Amino acid sequence: MAEDLDPFDIALQQLNKAAKVMKLDEQALKLLSQPMKILQVSIPVRMDNGKTEVFTGFRVRYNNARGPAKGGIRFHPEESLSTVKALAAWMTWKTAVVDIPLGGGKGGVICDPRKMSTGELERLSRGYIKAVADLIGPEKDVPAPDVYTTPQIMAWMMDEYENIVRHSAPGVITGKPIENGGSLGRGDATARGGMYVLREAAKRTGMDLSKAKVAIQGFGNAGQFAVKLVKELYGSRVVAVSDTRGGAYLEDGLDFDKLMEQKKSKGTVQGYPGSKPITNEELLELDVDVLIPAAIENQLTSRNAANVKAKVVLELANGPTTPEADDILHKNKVLLVPDFLANAGGVTVSYYEWVQNQTGDYWEEEEVHKKLDKKMTEASKAVFSAVDQYKVEPRTAAYVVSVKRVADAMKLRGLY
Ligand code: GLU
Repeated sequence: MAEDLDPFDIALQQLNKAAKVMKLDEQALKLLSQPMKILQVSIPVRMDNGKTEVFTGFRVRYNNARGPAKGGIRFHPEESLSTVKALAAWMTWKTAVVDIPLGGGKGGVICDPRKMSTGELERLSRGYIKAVADLIGPEKDVPAPDVYTTPQIMAWMMDEYENIVRHSAPGVITGKPIENGGSLGRGDATARGGMYVLREAAKRTGMDLSKAKVAIQGFGNAGQFAVKLVKELYGSRVVAVSDTRGGAYLEDGLDFDKLMEQKKSKGTVQGYPGSKPITNEELLELDVDVLIPAAIENQLTSRNAANVKAKVVLELANGPTTPEADDILHKNKVLLVPDFLANAGGVTVSYYEWVQNQTGDYWEEEEVHKKLDKKMTEASKAVFSAVDQYKVEPRTAAYVVSVKRVADAMKLRGLY
């Protein structure tokens, strides 16, 4: 049988595996196997050429037993309802694994923001909020940035929402610019949170991060800051980086500032002075200690998982590894730190942003880092202790921890 690459099928396979291990109640499993709400919208946008284009958007509320739904909005040409559903499910496990009082949701629009002008993007962002306004709100469902959406887009979206409800409501969305009520420390939070988890994973495997070679797939918000922080915090050497157009390999290590320069002037990291050009596929199979997929879904599959040489895989992307690849990596004794633990730093600081918006009390960056470290460390410990208790690989262990928390909240509400 061909490998199943449908994101929501994959999310359900992962859930079912954990449900068996933890002997989850059948009714709870039924409740957790589908979103609570799905909204599909058509968004008319006047393009710069004067013609109207109609974009399709989604917002999925997966579960809100532990609090308002939370999760980003992706602008992507290959967005689909299945992807948004999977990402919304993963957000549910993500907020639960770090134990913040929020549920899981996700949004998406099928579009290619790289081919749109700033004005078109603003009109699309406002149009999306107009279309989903009934579903979102600081106490209902709180969006945030994701692939190809930015703090600027969050500011437009907040503004549009406030125009609709006719009062200030900064807590409707997170990942905003600081000037609009964003939190200090939100910008690099996904990568920083991942670094704290990596530190715990390294302790477990006895890896000395100051001597580690690292390869990072993806140079967006997560990947860029991972390049910077892994060196800054641990002194590791980043030997390879890639983006959608290709990658660069340099045994002596790539420099963050020079990578940013390269990306800005050439539009891709490939061609970094003195580096060897590599493909995204080659990057995943490099002889490194730590591999960080920080791009999109389905990168490690049954085709290439056996060729992974890294000892630790830190999933900063959502859904980069298929279940077949999971099994292969586990058999080969690769420690895979699953996405919804590894990249939970973003939503954790989003939660801090939301708390600051709701209370009007704003925190210093140091305080955000300290709180984030504590949350990520506790979550890592909970997951690794479930690994030992249930004798399963970390993804299933993380599911066991999260699903139990969500199922308990549903049970106490009387949902089953
Ligand atoms: N889009 C990010 C994620 O997948 C952040 C979500 C949020 O901050 O709500 O975790």
